[in-house]
Amino acid sequence: MPEAMLFEKLSGSRVRCGTCQWRCSINPGRFGVCRMYQNVGGTLQNLSYARVSSMTADPIEKKPLFHFFPGTQAFSVGGWGCNFQCRGCQNWQISSVRNHNQAYGAREILPEQLIELTERNNCQGIAWTYNEPGIWFEYTLDGARLAKEKGLYTVYVTNGYLTPEALDIIGPYLDAWRVDVKGFTDSVYRRLARITHWREILEVAERAKTKWNMHVEVITNIIPTLNDDDEQLQGIARWIHDGLGELTPWHVTRFHPQYQMTELPSTPIATLEHAYDIGRAAGLRFVYLGNVPGHESESTVCYSCGKLVVARSGYQTNVVALNGSKCGYCGAELGFRMPGGGGHND
Ligand code: SF4
Repeated sequence: MPEAMLFEKLSGSRVRCGTCQWRCSINPGRFGVCRMYQNVGGTLQNLSYARVSSMTADPIEKKPLFHFFPGTQAFSVGGWGCNFQCRGCQNWQISSVRNHNQAYGAREILPEQLIELTERNNCQGIAWTYNEPGIWFEYTLDGARLAKEKGLYTVYVTNGYLTPEALDIIGPYLDAWRVDVKGFTDSVYRRLARITHWREILEVAERAKTKWNMHVEVITNIIPTLNDDDEQLQGIARWIHDGLGELTPWHVTRFHPQYQMTELPSTPIATLEHAYDIGRAAGLRFVYLGNVPGHESESTVCYSCGKLVVARSGYQTNVVALNGSKCGYCGAELGFRMPGGGGHND
C-alpha cells in the first residue's frame, strides 16, 4: 500500500487528506469518505493502488470527448469506490463499493502493465474513467508519467473534485479533463451527489485549462425534475462560456432510470434540445446531445461556414475536414486537439 502523496499530520495521530475537496480529517485506523484512503499509524495510505475493476479499449467519443483525438481508441481503466454518492450513478456496481477489502482483493494491474496493455490494444492513450480517478490518485499519477514517456495521451474522466494542489501535481502529465458539472446550485449538488461545497469544481476545471493547458469538455446528465430547470442549465452554460471559452464542448446527456433513481422517467428528447438551445444562446459553439443515438447534434458542424467537419453516428467517427484544430474548409478555429500535436492553445 503506497503512502498518499498529499496529507498533513494533525494532533493525536490524525491526518488530513489533501487529494480531493472533502479534505477528510481521519483518525488512526479510520478511512476517508471514499473509503480508499486509511490512516495507518499516523500516515495516510491508499488502499486501491493498481486494483482495477474494469478495463477495455473504448472509442474516445465514449468518454465523451468529441474534440480530442477524434476517432482514436483510449485504453479505459477504472478502480473502486467514489468520493461522491450519486443516486443515479451509471457505474454504481463499482462506485458504490464501500469496503476497501473488495478493492484490495481485485486484480492488480501495475502502471507498467497498463502501458503494455494500452499499446497491445492499439490505443493511442489512457483514460481513467468508470469511477472517480482522484481516489486512486497515486496510481493515475504513476500511469500518466509513464504514458507521457511513451507518447500516449492521458485523460481524466472526473467529477472534478480533485484539489488544486493535486491537480498541480498531475497537471504536467494530463492532456484532457472531462468534467461532470451536475447543476449550478447548492441544493442540486446536495440532492444529486450529497456534496455541499461544489464551486471549487469550477475553479479546478478552469485551472486545468489555463494553468496546465488541458483540453476540457463538460458533461451534464440531465435528470427530470432535478437539474433540468433553466437556472441550472443557464448557469452551467454561462460558466462554460465565461470560464472555459466558447469553443468548449458541452455534452448534455439523457438520463435513464437506474440504481437509486428508478422512480424517474428517462429524460425527454425535448428537454435535451431545450438545453441545447440554452447552450447556444449562451454563446457556446458546440453543444452535443448524448445517449440519443442518431440525433443530428452528434456531428460537428463548423460554426463559421456551416459545413460538416466531423461526422459521428453512435461511436463511428469520420473526420471529414479538419486541419489541425481548425475547420478544413474555412480555417475557423474549432478547438480540436489532434494526433501529431495539432491543437488549439488559447
Ligand atoms: S480522496 Fe478520499 S480520503 Fe482523501 S479527501 Fe477525498 S474522500 Fe477524503
